[in-house]
Amino acid sequence: MPKAKYKEHHVGDHALRPESLMMGYGYDPRLSEGAAKCPIFQTSTFVFPTAEAGKAYFQLAYGLREASPGEELGLIYSRLNNPDLEILEDRLGLWDGAEAGAVFASGMAAISTALWAYLRPGDAIVFSEPLYGGTEHFIRTVLPEFGITPVGFPAGHAVADLASDIRTRVGRRRVPVVYIETPANPTNAMIDIADLAAFGKTLGSDGARPVLMVDNTFLGPLWQHPLRCGADLVIYSATKFIGGHSDLVAGAVLGTTQAMVPVRTLRTFMGTMADAWTGWLLMRSLETLKMRMTAMMKNARYCAEFLNEHAKVRAVHYLGLLREDDPQFPIYRKQCMGAGSLIAFEVEGGEGGAFRFLNALKLVKLAVSLGGTESLAEHPGSMTHADVPPADQARMGITPGLIRLSVGVEHFEDLIADLALALDAV
Ligand code: PLP
Repeated sequence: MPKAKYKEHHVGDHALRPESLMMGYGYDPRLSEGAAKCPIFQTSTFVFPTAEAGKAYFQLAYGLREASPGEELGLIYSRLNNPDLEILEDRLGLWDGAEAGAVFASGMAAISTALWAYLRPGDAIVFSEPLYGGTEHFIRTVLPEFGITPVGFPAGHAVADLASDIRTRVGRRRVPVVYIETPANPTNAMIDIADLAAFGKTLGSDGARPVLMVDNTFLGPLWQHPLRCGADLVIYSATKFIGGHSDLVAGAVLGTTQAMVPVRTLRTFMGTMADAWTGWLLMRSLETLKMRMTAMMKNARYCAEFLNEHAKVRAVHYLGLLREDDPQFPIYRKQCMGAGSLIAFEVEGGEGGAFRFLNALKLVKLAVSLGGTESLAEHPGSMTHADVPPADQARMGITPGLIRLSVGVEHFEDLIADLALALDAV
């Protein structure tokens, strides 16, 4: 069946790239008085054309029957579906090559809903460390209250070296989820997704295998595509690059239609979806995603090189500075299309040195979060990862002098001037 014009990926034989599709894909102006841009569908509920149509929509929504060929779910109620979210989900899926997606009220709403969708009491979850502090707390503190055992493993090591230890700690428990962040927040340590996907299959039992979920917030959706490396679900804090202006909070989960079914279903019943206005803002942001992420990565390289040469900086963790003899380099070459714009670096003087640096910044803002147009710096040890016990922080490479810098779209010479003056204060 020919695709509707507004869901066309080609011009003749020529395949269009995601950045060319962000302005119109999935939106049919004929359905909105010819409006060139998708309006904000600020409505809680949708009027059914007939009672029979309403019945048919609910049958599909509740899985009471299979969709007939070409049939799409009609609009019902904004907790289930809304045009702004549906069009956004279609567009987001283009970057990662996902069949289906769901947008959430925050990254944590996306993460917690995806995990609840698959985990049950008595299960184990295998996960990489470090993770974003909120995810770490959810897995280490909240999930055990529901009888789920966390089994962590360190990012930055070959999967083959970790396999037997993971297997021992899992024991006889069912493992429905392997959850990772690569590169890891804040250290940029990487995991080979394809290797982990292969190992994950060996953790299955009774024909079932764990779902591999990858938080791709640090590099995606431009510089890494986990679904193409063997992941089942890719997760985003859309608050970061996708939103990109530090003015909204949102999240997303994308993957195969099959892997998304439990996640989409639970979103409906937990009510963790984003609202139409946020969906509209995210669509607006997606139009400039590639430009923003490209400019930020270019700036980050200049900043990382500057920091790397500075006498008061002990170490710089930036993917673009990885040397070819580093064991992480082959992973970077294999699964990343770019180095991104997040730099972790350690200044002299421990926490005191880090605080003096942060307090002296003028252009770069002292704030958590990342991926926005303005540069942001924070101290993971006492801020985003404050909940991680000191011994675990040390093990994960979150040292007292570590700063996380998210580089924005400012002029790189202005950023370097600011970093240089702040380092004088260290
Ligand atoms: N994942 C990563 C890598 C993050 O950095 C964050 C937030 O900083 C989240 C998930 C959580 O996202 P949100 O703050 O949108 O809930």
